[in-house]
Parts: sequence; structure tokens; C-alpha cells
Amino acid sequence: MRIDILTVVPELLESPLNHSIIKRAKAKGLVEIYIHNIRDYGKGNYHQVDDYAFGGDAGMVMMIEPVYTLISKLCEERKYDEIIYTSPDGEILNQGIANELSLMENIIILCGHYKGIDHRIREHLITREISIGDYVLSGGEIPAAAICDAVIRLIPGAISDETSALSDSFQDGLLAPPTYTRPKEFNGWTVPEVLLSGNLAAIKKWQDEQALERTKALRPELLEERES
Ligand code: SAH
Repeated sequence: MRIDILTVVPELLESPLNHSIIKRAKAKGLVEIYIHNIRDYGKGNYHQVDDYAFGGDAGMVMMIEPVYTLISKLCEERKYDEIIYTSPDGEILNQGIANELSLMENIIILCGHYKGIDHRIREHLITREISIGDYVLSGGEIPAAAICDAVIRLIPGAISDETSALSDSFQDGLLAPPTYTRPKEFNGWTVPEVLLSGNLAAIKKWQDEQALERTKALRPELLEERES
């Protein structure tokens, strides 16, 4: 899979995309991530990428030209399955969307900044808009990193224990059961006996019950979606 991220603040993406599972997935050749600085495509001495909003609203708006030049260049080089814009009014990222994107070959993620982007980019160049929740961040870089992380860990081979991603919350429409590790007792706080029993069938049964109970208690609407 190839992911091209378009940003005016590439520095914001350095750390989140260069450690842990994403780092290993890149090293194994499962994913290639290219970060493009939109400013390189801005005109003039200052490589201008933003300008005042028409209509006199406060705040700067990302200009269409540099983004158009960059997206056109990428699209000449290969076919993209999706050109995503991170936006607070987009569809809210969930495990289903992450699963869908993890099957794609090439995607572009455009990060907005300032007051947002010239709406013509959204009307003519973008194929999908994704939000990471009902709140406003300063830029699309953290949302882009969240999308990459959610998607890349689903690519087969990215996580060493193949079943691990499958048993995560939401993957089967349920929240994950609680997990524990050594020591067996800390401060007098113990671990559920069944997990220490070695009885795999009993452990599985307990985990399934816990997953169901936690979902019922914390996110009952997930159960309704699961049944429909
Ligand atoms: N004026 C815009 C917000 C601009 S915030 C509005 O009211 O909708 C600047 C940029 O941050 C946006 O262009 C978008 O790319 C990104 N962003 C902010 N919050 C986000 C969220 N919840 N999900 C995805 N992207 C977000």
C-alpha cells in the first residue's frame, strides 16, 4: 500500500509515522508513506500557500493552485483509489472505514490548516472526507496520523501476532475484554482466576462474556448495529 500525505507542516508527521508498528510495517515493505510539503508548490519568493478568505471572514484559507499542482502530479504518476481530505464535517472515522482503506493500493490524504481549504478543492479534487471526531483541531496532520495508524495495523503482517488486530475493539462489533499481565497480585489487587487456569475454552468463554458485558454497559448502540 502507498499513502501520500499532503501538508503545510510536514514536521508534525515525523514522529507519529516513524515508530512502533508503522515503522515496522514500512521496514517490511507493507506500506510506503510519502510526505509532501505543499509549500514546495507555492508561488513567489514566499512559496505562498494561503490567502485571505473572500467575503471578509477572519482567518487564512489554503489556496487551490499549489494543492491542484501537487495532486495532478501524483495522479499522473499512478491511479489513486481515494483522495481523502481530513475535515471536521466528514464521515467519522471508525473501524469499518479503516478496514476498507486497508485494502486499497494508493491513497492520498490532504491535511487542511488555518481556516480550512478553498472549497473548490473539495468540490473537484477530493473523493472522500474523513473526520476523527466532533471537535476542531488546528490542522489535519493529527487526523492523518490517526487514519494511517488505524489502517496500517490492519495490513496482514503489520502486527506480529496476526490474530491480535482481529480481537481488538470494534473489529467484531464488540469492545475488547480486559487484559492483565504479571504480577498476579499487586497491592492486593488480583487477576481473574480463570485467566490463570490454563483452560483455554474457559478463558475464551470468559473473554466473550466480558466483551459482551462491557459493550452492553459502555456502548449499547454497537450491539444494535451488530444485530441489524
Ligand atoms: N474552519 C473549519 C476548521 C478548520 S481547522 C471548520 O470549522 O470546519 C483546520 C484543519 O484541521 C481543517 O481544514 C482540517 O483539515 C483539520 N481538522 C480539524 N479538525 C478535524 C477533525 N475533527 N477531523 C479531521 N480533520 C480536522
